[in-house]
Amino acid sequence: MTADCVFCEIVTGAARSRKVYEDAEVLAFHDVNPRAPVHVLVIPKRHIPTASDLTDTDVMLAGRLVLVAQKVAADLGVADSGYRLVNNCRAHAGQSVWHLHLHILGGRQMGWPPG
Ligand code: 5GP
Ligand code: ZN
Repeated sequence: MTADCVFCEIVTGAARSRKVYEDAEVLAFHDVNPRAPVHVLVIPKRHIPTASDLTDTDVMLAGRLVLVAQKVAADLGVADSGYRLVNNCRAHAGQSVWHLHLHILGGRQMGWPPG
């Protein structure tokens, strides 16, 4: 738990969210400002600011995040049609919440490259 981190508050329950998956290490919940018909965020419960802050000891956790995203995409019905996993890392990528998260975006055709 890190002070002033909204995703840490979601982990503790201090802030509300629409959860779609939870285990001991990982939480997934609907984005409050969805950019696609399916827009879910997958986060580690532990506060890790950015993807660049992952270390070798986080190998299992990093893999879990991707596998939870895979499961959520299937549960929400976008696995076959396809979906995008996005991580915005630090300022130039536009990261706005500095608690590591994967975006799952699906349910519509995506453009490329992203802006
Ligand atoms: P970033 O820009 O850091 O890659 O993505 C942060 C995402 O978190 C944004 O899509 C934003 O809508 C979402 N977000 C920010 N605050 C909250 C919140 O309090 N609850 C939920 N569910 N999503 C949030
Ligand atoms: Zn946090």
